[in-house]
Amino acid sequence: MLVRLIPILALLLACKPAQQSANTNAGKAALTAPAIVPRASWGALAPKPYKQHTPVRITVHHEGTQLLPTDDAARKINRIQAWGMGPDRNWADIPYHFLIAPNGTIYEGRAVTTVGETNTEYDPTGHLLICCLGNYEVQEVSAETLQSLIQLIAWCSRQYKIPAETLSTHKDNSKQTTCPGKNLYAYFSNGYVLDAVKKKLKGE
Ligand SMILES: [Zn+2]
Repeated sequence: MLVRLIPILALLLACKPAQQSANTNAGKAALTAPAIVPRASWGALAPKPYKQHTPVRITVHHEGTQLLPTDDAARKINRIQAWGMGPDRNWADIPYHFLIAPNGTIYEGRAVTTVGETNTEYDPTGHLLICCLGNYEVQEVSAETLQSLIQLIAWCSRQYKIPAETLSTHKDNSKQTTCPGKNLYAYFSNGYVLDAVKKKLKGE
């Protein structure tokens, strides 16, 4: 009797996790990879070699100069890269891993496995940097930007196995900046972005 029960028990035990796994996968299917405009589309220069890292936290910035939904974001990103790689900063590449335009378009930045850059005192090693183009001290956050930001954070969290709870903004890591601007920061300080990201990860 005992001998007969053991295979049945084993089967029951084996089935339960399998079902849970199937349900979890079904939920995760709701989180689709966002459309990301590749570097070639904004005329990126080839990066210089730079320090490698594994991102373990997600950190959000704004770019800091005003940009409207009707402005040419690709051209702006191209200029940011040219300035950063020029004599002013001599950076390896554009400082951020992803950039989001005010119309919600997501652009590919530097390689995620490369340490980002900063003008402030924090060490960006281990930070996956997402930059919202615009100045959110003065301009409002568009619904499209917020939607893309939430989807990108959730996707990066899953793609790079970074817990959503690591989410923060530049000013949370540095005393030298108001980045990402008070209008964008409000969505972080009240927990709105983290809640929305967690819901996306659960497939809600
Ligand atoms: Zn910043």
